[in-house]
Amino acid sequence: MKEKIVYFIAGSQTLYGDDVLEHVRQHSEEMANYISERMPVTVKYLTTCKSNDEVVAAVKQVNADDNCIGIITWCHTFSPAKMWINGLRMLQKPMCHLATQYNERLPYDTIDMDFMNENQAAHGDREFGYIIARMRMDNKVIAGYYKEEETLARLAAWCKAAAGLAFSKTVKVARFSDNMRNVAVTEGDKVDAHINLGWQVDFYPVGELVEYIDLVTEEEVDAQMAEYATRYTMGTDRIDVVREQAKYEIAIDKFCKDKGGYIGIVDHFGTLQGMNQLPGLAIQDLQLKGYGFGAEGDWKVAALGAVMQYMADQKGTGLMEDYTYDMADGLCLGAHMLEVSPQFAGTKPEIQVHPLGIGGKSDPARLVFEGIEAPEAVAVSMIDMGDRMRLIIQKIELVKYPKRMPNLPVAGLMWKYKPNFKTGIEAWIYAGGAHHTVVSSRLTVQDMVDLANMWGMEAVVIDENTEINEFKRQLMLTDIIYRRK
Ligand code: MN
Repeated sequence: MKEKIVYFIAGSQTLYGDDVLEHVRQHSEEMANYISERMPVTVKYLTTCKSNDEVVAAVKQVNADDNCIGIITWCHTFSPAKMWINGLRMLQKPMCHLATQYNERLPYDTIDMDFMNENQAAHGDREFGYIIARMRMDNKVIAGYYKEEETLARLAAWCKAAAGLAFSKTVKVARFSDNMRNVAVTEGDKVDAHINLGWQVDFYPVGELVEYIDLVTEEEVDAQMAEYATRYTMGTDRIDVVREQAKYEIAIDKFCKDKGGYIGIVDHFGTLQGMNQLPGLAIQDLQLKGYGFGAEGDWKVAALGAVMQYMADQKGTGLMEDYTYDMADGLCLGAHMLEVSPQFAGTKPEIQVHPLGIGGKSDPARLVFEGIEAPEAVAVSMIDMGDRMRLIIQKIELVKYPKRMPNLPVAGLMWKYKPNFKTGIEAWIYAGGAHHTVVSSRLTVQDMVDLANMWGMEAVVIDENTEINEFKRQLMLTDIIYRRK
């Protein structure tokens, strides 16, 4: 992500003379470098814009630069905002308006009119803000001294989301199944997702994958098994069953690369003709390589998982499913049939083989572990409202299993909902949130809200401030705001 660039563009004008403009340049460069060292991406001073033509030229450069994921704008001096109109009309990347200053404090003893003219962000940022509001641009505004921790943290979240947006436009999902029969929430408009999110979602008959599986050599399987041994404990003597999963992993990885770089994978336990087992261990381990996974044909969660994993630096993020409650203690046990990502492992994952009640296949190998703890995590669901996608973001707390579960044959996570068990569940259900989610212990609600804003998507947040009646009113309002038909 550090290779991605956010350009820092200062706004000014020629009214104040060359000396002032030289200071603007020096200060902006110094500020961009200071910020850059504290961001997940690279922040680079681009230019100081003083006219319509200069803004247009800068924006053309921003748009054409594949490595550039967005811009930070700031008005050191006053910058007449009509000069921004033509350029901003053609801007194709996210913009964060940083309402800050080079100096933190006023120089009370020495302040004079020269200082006032050179340092008037309070003045200039308002003029700039007006034109953004007038043009109805959905940009980010962050106010605060640029060296302040909180300002930097908010800017880092925005940078992460901007990088996620750029990544989103490259996401390709290979689905080896349609959605599970009769299931509603995993459905969605793939053309809409392609237009608005950049996701290319393609179907392949599982037979094409089976051809790849048949070509995997014993040597390749040996190498994959050696890799498993570095990460996992072998908890079974049915080695052939495990080797079959290794084969699946190699074949899926190769298939995705050969076919043009798929980073999302979708399967379904009911459409595995030609395969002996449901891919369990294989899918789990693939999620360490950045693949997003969706079960039962759920391509939305596969693509969302790939994007969120990218934003989270491939840590603590993956497919989850609200499975079963402890209603007395207000807990949810999240898991899946097999495919829980080892990024969630709080104990060393063990490879085990157990029967699988559904699907009618051989006993599959899978990783079993207890999930991590995290005081703040998010569970995110994307649903199709018929005219648009809605992103539901819930703050959760990942907690330790209160007791061992020796008969549980899958990996899991245990969590508490915000604001509390009942309101958390009610709000999720009112919003239409799915059972499949992407959970992340590395991303915050703000990261996801920033990304939703960049996507132009409705974002529904459930957190410690959620109150159910107010929440329902908000859903009614956003339904009007975002309704497309
Ligand atoms: Mn499922």
